[in-house]
Amino acid sequence: MYAFNYHKPTSLAEVQSLLAKAEDGKLLAGGHTYIPTLKQRLAQPSDVIDLSGVAELKGIEEEAGGVTIGAMTTHGQIARSEIVRRVIPGLAGMAAVVGDPQVRNRGTMGGALANNDPASDYPGAVIGLAATIRTDKREIAGDDFITGMFETALEEDEIIRAIHFPRPKRSAYEKFRNPASRYALVGSFVADLESGPRVVITGAGPCAFRWTDAEQALASNFTSDAVASLRADPTDLNSDLHASAEYRAHLITVITKRAVAKLG
Ligand SMILES: Cc1cc2nc3c(=O)[nH]c(=O)nc-3n(C[C@H](O)[C@H](O)[C@H](O)COP(=O)(O)OP(=O)(O)OC[C@H]3O[C@@H](n4cnc5c(N)ncnc54)[C@H](O)[C@@H]3O)c2cc1C
Repeated sequence: MYAFNYHKPTSLAEVQSLLAKAEDGKLLAGGHTYIPTLKQRLAQPSDVIDLSGVAELKGIEEEAGGVTIGAMTTHGQIARSEIVRRVIPGLAGMAAVVGDPQVRNRGTMGGALANNDPASDYPGAVIGLAATIRTDKREIAGDDFITGMFETALEEDEIIRAIHFPRPKRSAYEKFRNPASRYALVGSFVADLESGPRVVITGAGPCAFRWTDAEQALASNFTSDAVASLRADPTDLNSDLHASAEYRAHLITVITKRAVAKLG
């Protein structure tokens, strides 16, 4: 780890001021990704600004029929939240299968979204529920937030404040986990929205994407049978030591069928 200045502000205004003054300031949420990055000397920030003391970035509220989740809310808090479980059980179910208890106890929704690991779960719900990412500068539509592998629409020094999820008619998430990390080899989030079905695949490609063939099939027949004979194109899917693109394509069908069946 290289030396850096450590700050623990207690308000968003203080975070913004520290970022503006720092030569190369970086935010720290739960540290699940960023601390290993620092330890491996893959980053050399001048200042690390710890968000854990900023109360206004934490918490879960019911808003406009949906749910608003502060960026510093942990996966465990989301999974256990009475509000999330009641209003969007599919999202609570997703948070409950992020990593293991240690990861869920420290990892945050804001950190996970800013990092945008291709195997991360939340992009499924952000796109699948047409969520809105609220930053200290603007609102970003969930559909526009993810721009590539480990890339998002966030600008340098832009801070995620909260994420607003509208309530769907129904939603469910299923994933085939990497048994070691529990990250998604393939995840499928299926949502039944007023505007029609959404099916978002995570883990399989460089970033989360909508499986439009499945959405079209579900629009006329919302049953797992409707997706059973579909096959995703493996051409642009990830192939690595964990799974080939062909295997991931196969899993997309299997996992999506299970997610649809879970909707009941
Ligand atoms: C062993 C292991 C297993 C995991 N399994 C899963 C899994 O199954 N599914 C899954 O989805 N994830 C998984 N994760 C990821 C984990 O859930 C964390 O959310 C993720 O690592 C980000 O960590 P963090 O929230 O602690 O953020 P940090 O590591 O502190 O920050 C990550 C990045 O986000 C930036 N950042 C943080 N907060 C903000 C903010 N409010 N605004 C703007 N930028 C911000 C930081 O500057 C940094 O660049 C796993 C992680 C580990 C270590």
